[in-house]
Amino acid sequence: MDIDKFQGQLITADHPEYDTARAVWNGAIDRHPQLIARCSGTADVTAAVRFARSHDLEIAIRGGGHNVAGTAVCDDGIVIDLSAMQAVRVDPGRCTARVQGGALWGDVDHAAQAHGLATTGGIVSHTGVAGLTLGGGLGWLMRKHGLTVDNLLAADVVTADGELLRASDDRHPDLFWALRGGGGNFGVVTSFEFQLHPVGPDALAGAILWDAGDTRKVLRFYRDFVRGAPDELGTVVRFGTAPPLPIIPEELHWRPVILVGACCAGPIGDAEEVLRPLRAFGRPLLDLIAPTPYVNHQSAFDSTVLHGWKYYWKSTYLPELRDDLIDVIAAHAFACSSPRSYAVMFHLGGAVSRVPEGDTAVGNRQASHAITLDGVWRAGEDYADRDIAWSRGFFAALESYREGVYVNFLGADERPDRIRDAYGTAVYDRLVEVKTQYDPDNVFHHNQNIRPRSERTAARSRPGPHAPGAGTAGTTRPESQTNSGAMR
Ligand SMILES: Cc1cc2nc3c(=O)[nH]c(=O)nc-3n(C[C@H](O)[C@H](O)[C@H](O)COP(=O)(O)OP(=O)(O)OC[C@H]3O[C@@H](n4cnc5c(N)ncnc54)[C@H](O)[C@@H]3O)c2cc1C
Repeated sequence: MDIDKFQGQLITADHPEYDTARAVWNGAIDRHPQLIARCSGTADVTAAVRFARSHDLEIAIRGGGHNVAGTAVCDDGIVIDLSAMQAVRVDPGRCTARVQGGALWGDVDHAAQAHGLATTGGIVSHTGVAGLTLGGGLGWLMRKHGLTVDNLLAADVVTADGELLRASDDRHPDLFWALRGGGGNFGVVTSFEFQLHPVGPDALAGAILWDAGDTRKVLRFYRDFVRGAPDELGTVVRFGTAPPLPIIPEELHWRPVILVGACCAGPIGDAEEVLRPLRAFGRPLLDLIAPTPYVNHQSAFDSTVLHGWKYYWKSTYLPELRDDLIDVIAAHAFACSSPRSYAVMFHLGGAVSRVPEGDTAVGNRQASHAITLDGVWRAGEDYADRDIAWSRGFFAALESYREGVYVNFLGADERPDRIRDAYGTAVYDRLVEVKTQYDPDNVFHHNQNIRPRSERTAARSRPGPHAPGAGTAGTTRPESQTNSGAMR
């Protein structure tokens, strides 16, 4: 790049903010880039891509920095960091929002809810818009309004050539198709345009907690309950201890519980009827469901997944919960050691499953659930080995039920064929064609990598975290080192 014209911040190892700037959400990731180019706008992104290419630097793209595999940061290369690009502009007349590529979901919800609007976004407000959207986007509203990508109208993308393109149904439709599920493989998205919908400002939302010992009974009831639920109802099931939050009575803190989180995005009166049977089931320890500002519910889980804790995830899509599958879940869900480890299961269906496979690059739309099995520990705690083993063992026990995987839930030590599992063969092959067209040299490979055709026969010299031969969390190190002498 013409480094002197870069208007953002350039952060190298001698900068006082270097360690903060290279840290991502998952504290198990510890990588040391040569340069973090914190961009102030699209021109900086273009300059950073060109600079990286001219110096043959490994590139990582950072949106919200939330990806559990830590793909937002690399060793030795450059991080194109969009965290200073968080503007959200809502057009209430058209019910749309333009969102910069480093925004978090909390930014979008805050701006959109000021107009009584929202779109499907993640259930933790400090998750990045960019990575979540480019992988598909699950959230409370998806059964009513589709995945996040189903609400994407256009995206501005800086390609591997440093060219700025606008992708939409009318312009570069092949690129636009690939961006809706294919992840960060095709360029750096500097801006997204989303369709918004009237939501709230209050929704009937919250969580119900039962004792972990009731897991089988609760899941059997839950299966039948969600089978007939209207699209307005979004639910997730969380298996873990009750977090020590002020809204939870102290005597329940750290007690193993099965929790159903719910958000019913329709009129409160109708939602009361929808949720009544769930709230009446069995003997809940606690019922926190109440009319709640939608924007508050969007951050209700934030403090259970803090930045800097160490995480190890395995994940899979699942079919409807047959009794034998419920038995497997119940047998493993609470067998972890760390009080912070948990499993969380999203209920899909509704509008997600009504978009035909292949219309976007998201795979597995017919799955009923997506589950993540998440070992969590803090620095100095000795749960890592046991809870990594727990996560892997739980995952292995689900083998005969697994139906592909959500690409955004892939961890740091996955086999490359799991990326194909995330899409299915037809979508994956089409992604390879688009990748070959827009990034034939696989410049953007520090991600859940779709390799271009040329690379599928010749192994790449610089494997990304999910390329064959790559290491595990925090250990990925490209074979070719580059000289950073040209950078300040
Ligand atoms: C606590 C937690 C809760 C989550 N909840 C949900 C949820 O409710 N629903 C859901 O669908 N997912 C959820 N996820 C998964 C989430 O979708 C991914 O972690 C996603 O990658 C986060 O996006 P990010 O921008 O923060 O990622 P980052 O870590 O910044 O980036 C991940 C990758 O995305 C790509 N990328 C990022 N920004 C850009 C950009 N501007 N242009 C091009 N490529 C880019 C790059 O390839 C990068 O390597 C959750 C994750 C966590 C950790």
